[in-house]
Amino acid sequence: MQELDAVYALPFTRKPHPRYTDIPAFRMIEHSITSHRGCYGRCSFCSITAHQGPEIVSRSKKSILQEVEKIASKPGFTGTITDIGGPTANMYGSSCAIGGCRDHDCLKEDSACKNLVSGTKYYRDVLRRAGEIKGVKHVFISSGLRFETVLMEDALIRACIRYHTPGRMKIAPESGSEKVLHLMGKPAPKKCKIFLKRVRKIAVSENLPLIVVPYIIAGHPGEEKAETEETIQFLADEKLYGNEVQIFTPTPLTRSTAMYYLGYDPITGEETPTEKDTKKLEERKYKIISGDINAKRPEPRRYDAKKGPATKPSVAGKKTASLSKYRE
Ligand code: SF4
Repeated sequence: MQELDAVYALPFTRKPHPRYTDIPAFRMIEHSITSHRGCYGRCSFCSITAHQGPEIVSRSKKSILQEVEKIASKPGFTGTITDIGGPTANMYGSSCAIGGCRDHDCLKEDSACKNLVSGTKYYRDVLRRAGEIKGVKHVFISSGLRFETVLMEDALIRACIRYHTPGRMKIAPESGSEKVLHLMGKPAPKKCKIFLKRVRKIAVSENLPLIVVPYIIAGHPGEEKAETEETIQFLADEKLYGNEVQIFTPTPLTRSTAMYYLGYDPITGEETPTEKDTKKLEERKYKIISGDINAKRPEPRRYDAKKGPATKPSVAGKKTASLSKYRE
């Protein structure tokens, strides 16, 4: 913790390198704060554990709050801290009761390890105290949240809905297929369903609007037509809409990338047929976004020098309509 605090206490300018005039991503991160490093989620497709480690190293509350003060005193700050989080936001402050083990697979797909000590009360506290700093109007969480109960107790859900989600809560079921989720090292769909039931019940009891937006990966190794259909059905059953669907990208050092190239899971030997044709993957993504396995993706519009740039694909408009329709 001391080492991480010392790094963040260095006199960074919080500005992009002067060589660059406009970096779109900078607008997103300018007023966001890293609270910790590491992730023990062990999702097969993600390389964070490989390069940051599975152990959570958290900054002290003091260090985080000092950074909030620094941002709040900057000219041009309009009052919104866009994120306090890390690879998985609600792992802040968590630890292991026995000091760690070799596997460090603390969430074990469907049941958290009994030695996992949640840090969510520290996380809630740091979020609350950041919101009390002069000049701060909102403190949002834009980093991903795991929805296992050990990391998402009712008090944190309530705080998220009330104060820390900018209108939409983003969650990452990643797929609706039990088989694919098992390959991804993620909880089964029933765990997500339980979470959604909890979060919606709390929103109703608090009389607060809530939109839940799902992140989905299309084309993960092991996903074929049947699994895509399961995902579409899952999203429809749970009234989850949006266009946050990404095509699987093999990332160095991950188990999913090994599945992609080998055609089987190197740990279990399970076969993992994988679609690699970009056009077919774009089709699959479109089917998931449109909620229809038979949907045909319109041909991408070509740039016409006389007419100017192509307008946005029609599905964008559809998404907005769906979201407002299902505002809860
Ligand atoms: S003992 Fe459990 S909580 Fe501790 S590091 Fe291992 S899996 Fe994680």
